[in-house]
Amino acid sequence: MTAAEADWTEAVRLLTSYDEVALVCHVGPDGDALGSMLALGLALRARGTKVRASWGSEPFEVPTAYASLPGLDLLVEAEEIPEAPGLLVTFDTGSPDRLGALADRVATAQDVLVIDHHVTNTRFGTVNVVDDLAAATAVVVVELLDRMGLPLTAEIAAPVYTGLVTDTGSFKYAATTPQVHELAARLLATGIRHDVISREIWDTAPFAYVQLLGAVCSRAVLEPVGAGGLGLVWTAVTGADLDRFGLALSDVEGVIDVLRMSREAEVAAVLKADPADGLLKVSTRSKGAVDVGAVCQALGGGGHRFAAGFTSGDDVPTTLARLRDGLAAAPHLAV
Ligand code: 5GP
Ligand code: MN
Repeated sequence: MTAAEADWTEAVRLLTSYDEVALVCHVGPDGDALGSMLALGLALRARGTKVRASWGSEPFEVPTAYASLPGLDLLVEAEEIPEAPGLLVTFDTGSPDRLGALADRVATAQDVLVIDHHVTNTRFGTVNVVDDLAAATAVVVVELLDRMGLPLTAEIAAPVYTGLVTDTGSFKYAATTPQVHELAARLLATGIRHDVISREIWDTAPFAYVQLLGAVCSRAVLEPVGAGGLGLVWTAVTGADLDRFGLALSDVEGVIDVLRMSREAEVAAVLKADPADGLLKVSTRSKGAVDVGAVCQALGGGGHRFAAGFTSGDDVPTTLARLRDGLAAAPHLAV
């Protein structure tokens, strides 16, 4: 469902009444989290608002795929987000815990505007524009820009396009509606280099990543009885893997996209060791018959029917056992 008319109106009021805003997105930002945040940040700055944008996880480094995006100069280290911001705007963040080290600002900010598309969003803002039918948070941002009468320039279109292609898997996922293509057409018409943006996101990685892919995929396990007999395929990326290939956690996000190709498995899962906190970051994907968003939410995480995740303090076997149980209990949906 899209947000109520009153919420859109309130969101526009907040964004136009503060001279200074703090923008934050979820930890370990992906293309939609970062893209939607930069897009609104650029638009607000162009109208004279002082903008600071950040996220609350280490390392505070823009993933290489997004290193050429406009608006990176809006980014500041997490500590530079004021202790008690006037207006805090959150992007692609379903619940405050997903803000990591910046989660406390939700309680200290005067106003919190939540901009999101997660069906699991807990509506933790003073104003929430959550459209769980939107293909990406970036789509919600464009609706806000339109309602504020702010122009969609090429500079803004690039991060929006980044969010859109990230969350639709290059216009492949079910969330890809006619409206998504209409928005893509609007973005391309601004003259952005969509080919360069897509190549950076999908088709470029260090050679070491290709090697890591080989290693972790060769260890992948197919469990035909998993997910209530629909099949589970999983693998783990350990801290030793990251060390051996000299890669960061943000470099291995694409492993799940290879694993989920397995026809024999409804659900794919990658358990990734986070060197920053020693926790396991679990990514899951389904082909629609199992709502992994609901399964991961019950395990303390969240996401969508087709893509979800959770964070685990347990080791790989224990985490996997919890995931297996959650998947086994999940109802089978019509696809
Ligand atoms: P990914 O597997 O690409 O990291 O995430 C897929 C989806 O699951 C995204 O919508 C992301 O926001 C959500 N997600 C991933 N990990 C977590 C988590 O630890 N907690 C919550 N609440 N959502 C997560
Ligand atoms: Mn998103």
